[in-house]
Amino acid sequence: MAVSDKPQQADLDRCVHCGLCLNACPTYRELRVEMDSPRGRIYQMVQVANGARVTDSYREHIDLCLACRACETACPSGVKYGRLVEAARAEIEQRTHRPLSERLLRRVVFNHILPSRAGLRIAALGMRFQQHVKLPGRLGELASLAPRVESAPFWPQIGRNFPAIGRKQHRIAFLSGCVANVFFARLNEATIRVLQRNGCEVAIPINQTCCGALHVHAGLREPARKLARRNIDAFLGGNFDAIITNAAGCGSTLKEYGELLDDPRADKFASLVKDVTEFLAAIDLDKNMGEIRETVTYQDSCHLAHGQKIRSAPRELLRRVPGLEIREMSMADSCCGSAGIYNILHTDMSLALLRKKMDAVNATGADRIVTANPGCMLQLRAGVDRWGRAQRVSHVVEVLDEAYSKML
Ligand code: SF4
Ligand code: SF4
Repeated sequence: MAVSDKPQQADLDRCVHCGLCLNACPTYRELRVEMDSPRGRIYQMVQVANGARVTDSYREHIDLCLACRACETACPSGVKYGRLVEAARAEIEQRTHRPLSERLLRRVVFNHILPSRAGLRIAALGMRFQQHVKLPGRLGELASLAPRVESAPFWPQIGRNFPAIGRKQHRIAFLSGCVANVFFARLNEATIRVLQRNGCEVAIPINQTCCGALHVHAGLREPARKLARRNIDAFLGGNFDAIITNAAGCGSTLKEYGELLDDPRADKFASLVKDVTEFLAAIDLDKNMGEIRETVTYQDSCHLAHGQKIRSAPRELLRRVPGLEIREMSMADSCCGSAGIYNILHTDMSLALLRKKMDAVNATGADRIVTANPGCMLQLRAGVDRWGRAQRVSHVVEVLDEAYSKML
């Protein structure tokens, strides 16, 4: 069932203003400003729903939200905060005009880069150039948060079918992402190897596209709907047991396509979507792994822990790797400050959160940080460069792939 493009009264009415979400909210913990807390943001949404103007101040408080959904986990009244903030941003998009420079930047990123292979290629060229140049001041700070372009992109694999190793037990489809095809090609390859190793025939449907998560988070619901329809057409005809993603941010939106589109096919699509850790933890995992003698700490991705309520699956998978010692950091499910392109748009807040995250990581003494979302990996790598102790940063499936590779 689709949800319309402004906060719905029934969702707003669920908030009883108890304030139990306040200390779960990273922006509130940082600023101690009620209007930058979940309760304060909901209060402002109620004012707008009752006829108040959409002001610049309202937009700034809603923009500064990470959409991490930690408040959803903390809320005893079941407030669907993620749905509210996405709808509030959609309403802001419809009712206000951003400055020209911001509109141009958003148009380029959301219309011409994320959903377009040609656009991503051009962006990758620019970023490859930037990797070899030391930029001054603020530009250099932003560049240090940008992803590294990997030398062979993943695109040539799109459209291919990878056979199961051993007896075929599952036929699954893999969503390779948009920017991940350029910046996380090795992670995508590792994901396919681990799935093959676990009895999966892996298809990568050729007509797939960007999932639209960043569009939804930015309030651009119509472009997101176009992308969702294209993915539904690309994946639903294949008679797959599951549609797998290795990006928690994408998975959260893919599982909510039914809220984006009023179309039973969207509900069917959403019911097939599984995060790769969720899928692997639920099957009879191949235990034939070599030892990795290391200590690791696991960072919950917001959109896995709070968005999809998946916390134990990645930890269970790590526990099955022989030799691996897991040390929990404090507040592992608190946002690292990545949040899509938040680290570029709100760099100061993002870095403040990252600094705290790295203090928690360093206190564990772990050799490696493991997470389940490419965006978090980028942010944590930037954290290691600034405040870390040379920890490696990996996705859960990369650790499994490494353990399997020791038994080849
Ligand atoms: S969002 Fe939930 S926890 Fe926060 S004030 Fe409202 S009812 Fe209370
Ligand atoms: S989504 Fe995250 S940043 Fe936004 S109000 Fe909730 S806890 Fe705070």
